[in-house]
Amino acid sequence: MSGESGKTHRPAAFLDRDGTIVRDVGYARSPDDLELLPGAAAGIEQLRERGFLIIVITNQSGIGRGMLTENDYQLQVARLDQLLGSSARPDAHYHCPHHPTEALGVYKISCSCRKPAPGLFLKAAAEWNIDMNASIAVGDSPRDIEAARAAGIFACARIGDAGLDNFTKAVDEALRRLSRLDR
Ligand SMILES: [Mg+2]
Ligand SMILES: [Zn+2]
Repeated sequence: MSGESGKTHRPAAFLDRDGTIVRDVGYARSPDDLELLPGAAAGIEQLRERGFLIIVITNQSGIGRGMLTENDYQLQVARLDQLLGSSARPDAHYHCPHHPTEALGVYKISCSCRKPAPGLFLKAAAEWNIDMNASIAVGDSPRDIEAARAAGIFACARIGDAGLDNFTKAVDEALRRLSRLDR
């Protein structure tokens, strides 16, 4: 199933941010709050070498809650890119700033982009022409996996599941599941 279709539809690795790529500190506000987790940069670099687009998808309701601004978040994106370096830099970052009950003003909505909803996965798939059947997803929350599955990604692995106590192991498991899919 690779070959011709691979030229137009690329596989992607959909990665959660907090607790997956960087330490989960609750609500990161400053770029200085970002700390890479062990294995994240090396693992992302290997995924890129294997031809995966790297797409970060993150719930950032702290924006809607008024704890940080959109600009603060964009400074974090720049910092994360810098920490990961050119060989592991994500191709794109997508975030949901909303929360259905705890956010303020326009951010207080039941949106289609807050995981476990698949909205941001589907948006990325359209914008990057992604082959979801050839893609993987890794996160540390059940809602990361639920969102990925709802978007049609079935090679998923969750950090925290049995035997998957770090990023490297979860990526390896997702790749194993991808190799077993009947595509
Ligand atoms: Mg997380
Ligand atoms: Zn949203």
